[in-house]
Amino acid sequence: MSKQPNNLTTSWGAPVGDNQHSITAGSRGPTLVQDVHLLEKLAHFNRERVPERVVHAKGAGAHGYFEVTNDLSAYTKASFLSEVGKRTPMFIRFSTVAGELGSSDTVRDPRGFAVKFYTEEGNYDLVGNNTPVFFIRDAIKFPDFIHTQKRHPQTHLKNPNAVWDFWSLSPESLHQVTILMSDRGIPLTLRHMHGFGSHTFKWVNAEGQAVWIKYHFKTEQGIQNLDVDLAAKMASENPDYHIEDLFQAIAKGNFPAWKLYVQIMPLEDANTYRFDPFDVTKVWSQKDYPLIEVGRMVLNRNPENYFAEVEQATFSPGSFVPGIEASPDKMLQGRLFAYGDAHRYRVGANHNLLPINRPHAEVHNYQRDGALRSDNNGGGSVYYEPNSLGGPKESPKHKIAPFEVSGEAQSVAYDHDDHYTQPGDLYRLLSEEERARLVQNIVGAMKPVESDEIKLRQIGHFYKADPEYGRRVAEGLGLTVPQGE
Ligand code: NDP
Repeated sequence: MSKQPNNLTTSWGAPVGDNQHSITAGSRGPTLVQDVHLLEKLAHFNRERVPERVVHAKGAGAHGYFEVTNDLSAYTKASFLSEVGKRTPMFIRFSTVAGELGSSDTVRDPRGFAVKFYTEEGNYDLVGNNTPVFFIRDAIKFPDFIHTQKRHPQTHLKNPNAVWDFWSLSPESLHQVTILMSDRGIPLTLRHMHGFGSHTFKWVNAEGQAVWIKYHFKTEQGIQNLDVDLAAKMASENPDYHIEDLFQAIAKGNFPAWKLYVQIMPLEDANTYRFDPFDVTKVWSQKDYPLIEVGRMVLNRNPENYFAEVEQATFSPGSFVPGIEASPDKMLQGRLFAYGDAHRYRVGANHNLLPINRPHAEVHNYQRDGALRSDNNGGGSVYYEPNSLGGPKESPKHKIAPFEVSGEAQSVAYDHDDHYTQPGDLYRLLSEEERARLVQNIVGAMKPVESDEIKLRQIGHFYKADPEYGRRVAEGLGLTVPQGE
């Protein structure tokens, strides 16, 4: 605990004479407007919340470090990922996706897995999930998808009809739906799950040569999941179970750790691979692109203050550092805009000046002013470029690696539309007990759907992934697989 000073002051630093009684005319009042300490106290209280995140509202955070264990400098010039022994401070925020700030931790939902690395060349944010894929593969569908996960505009209730209507009409979601409905849809704790960058990214080495990569964080605590009945019980008895577990583990010195691996794909393979490697609803088979160790992440320090560190932490997949670049993944491309924009709206244009977001690398640029500009705003230094006053200059060696683009500009899907092989592969790698629980979870989630048309459409997708999968879900719902599937 930090030392407590004992002189109470107003926010403008003046001593407070009385913090228990407002200034009133006599002992009965009324209260006098001249009690400016009271006015400031009430007015500030009204403004204690910043808007909660539209998605990933409820989270838990921790500080730690990342240490490189394998020399991958042949693939990236980002030394925090490739120089053996190098340690970089980092902060992570885990979250549920759909629930509000006060919602339960033990619900069936993907978990956000957002890591901020405070590197010597600026902050790198790896803003992923605990699943290797996502429900949709084009950012234009994101607001509609999230509407189905949120509350009905009239009843303010969660709406399974919308959820399954959208999924059944968006077969690219089948892979993520299968993962979500499997045991891994409710992790035991935040410590017992993997993390994934999910998107494909580009790594560039010091010679300017590039490869495509995917990130995998593997939990050293082992995968463990929560039984559905216990999860429901926990949701009412201790809705903050995951936040509490993480905080307590770190407080007791039981530091959770993950090994980071990458899959590496030569650039030219992207033209011939059997799935589109930029489609975030698909994985790259580890038989084709095996995991290569990068390093180890250890969480060893709790936040001092939840609001300052966890709530105000802002992550953007667009916060790249030299050696890491974007891929054409259409979800990633949308997120490059949407995350920064969310933070400018939610926390403010100067969110990167807050201590939790401030790079450890020095920042020199020509941005000035804006709400809550809390540093010296560049003082009297030169505030435009180009200039002949010796202001900060670009470094051409950090230009992005040039890449070719081709094709006609049009609104169009990825060429590949096999949405069934990979969910089927996942179904087939599950044990019989895991399959039975998967089907049971799906049946439980689909039962409240009012329309048989929606249910049958979705059963058709399960059937295409694996006939047994489709038949078992249909049976559980008292339906039969539609003819022609
Ligand atoms: P592999 O057999 O090489 O890899 C299987 C992957 O599945 C491993 O990453 C394994 O990681 C993971 N896995 C094992 N059990 C489960 C489970 N119950 N739920 C979710 N994931 C599990 O096969 P492929 O790489 O060819 O992939 C086959 C299928 O595995 C894919 O269609 C995909 O659905 C799933 N998968 C693939 C991943 C990838 O990056 N290729 C990542 C995660 C899942 P672990 O045992 O450490 O969890």
